[in-house]
Amino acid sequence: MLDIDKIRADFPILKREVNGKPLVYFDNAATSQTPQVVIDAIVDYYSNYNANIHRGVHTLSQEATDKYEEARLKIQKHFNAKKSYEIIFTSGTTHSINIVATGFSSLLKKGDEVIVSALEHHSNIVPWQMLCERTGAILKVIPMNQDGELVMNEYDKLLSDKTKIVFVNHISNALGTINPIEEIIEKAHKVGAAVLIDGAQACPHIKPDVQALNADFYVASAHKIYGPTGVGILYGKEEWLNKLPPYQGGGEMIKEVTFEKTTYADLPHKFEAGTPNICGGIAFGAAIDYANSIGFENIQEREKELLDYATEKLLEIDGLKIYGTSKNKTSVISFNIEGIHPYDIGTIVDKLGIAVRTGHHCAQPIMDFYKIPGTVRASFSFYNTKEEIDSLVEAVKKAKMMLS
Ligand SMILES: *Cc1c(COP(=O)(O)O)cnc(C)c1O
Repeated sequence: MLDIDKIRADFPILKREVNGKPLVYFDNAATSQTPQVVIDAIVDYYSNYNANIHRGVHTLSQEATDKYEEARLKIQKHFNAKKSYEIIFTSGTTHSINIVATGFSSLLKKGDEVIVSALEHHSNIVPWQMLCERTGAILKVIPMNQDGELVMNEYDKLLSDKTKIVFVNHISNALGTINPIEEIIEKAHKVGAAVLIDGAQACPHIKPDVQALNADFYVASAHKIYGPTGVGILYGKEEWLNKLPPYQGGGEMIKEVTFEKTTYADLPHKFEAGTPNICGGIAFGAAIDYANSIGFENIQEREKELLDYATEKLLEIDGLKIYGTSKNKTSVISFNIEGIHPYDIGTIVDKLGIAVRTGHHCAQPIMDFYKIPGTVRASFSFYNTKEEIDSLVEAVKKAKMMLS
């Protein structure tokens, strides 16, 4: 059992008030909060060894390089990548997806097919649409059902020897559905297609083993795993990263430059042009350490308890409907109350100190499927409490009374 009071003390922001009320932070699916050990890592970097990496012979540069590469090793171990250079530091999930989608321009021809799912975040749709525009490849979509699950026998029908890459999220940010990625990957490989898994929403809850999954690419953002914004990773199998061309040109990504010809650096530097987010990478490593110190089994158990409790309590409210009712889901509840706009509910609960997200959650196709403009989304983390859920339920009841 986790000591929740002790855990909450790790997060300084949880002590603050909003509109005169204690903050209740239920927007964890948009960004997670940051524990003191991660904040300390950031302060330590700028206070003690701020320098550019991989270039200087001087001591600070050596120290910064060592810490940055140490963070890469921690992340490699966490994701169980075979090689450390299969972990590319990026600015986040969106950047990671764009590296792969842009790179595939040189690997696709007209008439090739790429498969996406109906449950994707815009950042795992738009780069692929742009790829299709550039290459003449065709975008196919795995449909979803009313519970917010992918319809897997439709996926089977979409796969063929024309399929070149499949990209799906591990967990849906809008609904919380956990997708059957093992099956998706295995079936794609049978027709010779690569698979990119968007793990942005999974990594706060699950420790993914990229070798066991046999994913070709796996991407994530630090800010959803208790780390800072502006940093993330692209995991790619060595053979795929070698096949893809570099994404950006610049310093750090080259072997030799002349005006006649430039040769590119080896992995991972080929994809890491320019000065990276050094401090962010180091703090990402600290965040991974923190999450592992809590333990992912403990995190899952705690969040399941919060999800079940909140689902039961919210459904007691007359006219409240939950979207995303898969048995396989994480601690995200997307809901609406009949006749009330989600934005109005979000505004009133904020007045009571409660942070929820309202809108389409960067997943408009899901909202179109349900024929709604958006939802109110409450997403829980292990540091949340049942008392906070009670406050949310009371606040939603109050909002309902004021608005109906
Ligand atoms: C948050 C999120 C993204 C985008 O992540 P950024 O950090 O904004 O790049 C992509 N996919 C999913 C499923 C997400 O939850």
